[in-house]
Amino acid sequence: PDATHYIGRFAPSPTGPLHDGALVAAMASYLDAKAHHGSWLVRMEDVDEARTAHGAAEAILHALSALQMHWDGKVVYQSHRGDLYQAAFDRLGRLAYPCGCTRREIVDSHIGVASDGAAVYPGTCRNGLPVGKPTRSYRLLVPEIGQAAELIRFEDRWQGMTQQHLAIEVGDFVLKRVDGFWTYQLAVIVDDANQGVTHVVRGADLLDSTPRQIYLQRQLQYLTPSYLHVPVITNANGEKLSKQNDAPPLDLTQPYQTLVKAAWFLGLEIGKIDSVEAFWPLAIAAWANQRLDRR
Ligand code: GLU
Repeated sequence: PDATHYIGRFAPSPTGPLHDGALVAAMASYLDAKAHHGSWLVRMEDVDEARTAHGAAEAILHALSALQMHWDGKVVYQSHRGDLYQAAFDRLGRLAYPCGCTRREIVDSHIGVASDGAAVYPGTCRNGLPVGKPTRSYRLLVPEIGQAAELIRFEDRWQGMTQQHLAIEVGDFVLKRVDGFWTYQLAVIVDDANQGVTHVVRGADLLDSTPRQIYLQRQLQYLTPSYLHVPVITNANGEKLSKQNDAPPLDLTQPYQTLVKAAWFLGLEIGKIDSVEAFWPLAIAAWANQRLDRR
């Protein structure tokens, strides 16, 4: 991806209003796009309808507007894009197979635990569903240890060289649930490819998902964008700030102070300012001067 054609994006899951942690990811992706004179898209990742909160998408867009983070083009909603996901899934052919395992059965197999806490899939249904078991999900076959493609490596612009053995650390992963829901891993790469995204900038909690996404991109002959994973804000227990652990919504009554706080977390020095208007040019310049690509 070259700097003259930069498409970045912010892809929040609308499970609640924007909080300080999500603002850091939004700001980093926005600043990187602006510093490259690129475009910045917003995509609502509402594939998991059970987690989507009523009114959250509107609240997020309202907060971005209030902070003068203007997106390019129309906001895209994953819940409206099922046909695209199905078409990509169909192209995977026999690489995607039906699985009848419950979460409990996978945990009980004790094969290992991935760094995101999920149990590594032991491959139970790789060679066909056990007799009498209903399909619960569709999984992607990952290369076995010893196969050429087993190790996924990429250079992250913030985290440096990153690698993962999918077979050991994740196992065959879910693309689609039988109730019709698409997983984040599938939807995100179909959308990034479909929207022409060249640069992904997001929180480091997703670093661990990136090798799965790169592997899936390769199976679908998509280009792999460049990746930059910024540190995430954690609470006193070391957990990522999230709606699940009740992170308070952004303080929009003090908008430029809210921005300065997020910038500070990204290591950006913003001098004395007294308005949102004054913030952005300084923040873009500070981001551009950070020389992130030094690695
Ligand atoms: N929707 C994901 C989240 O809010 C982010 C996806 C991404 O940036 O790739 O955690």
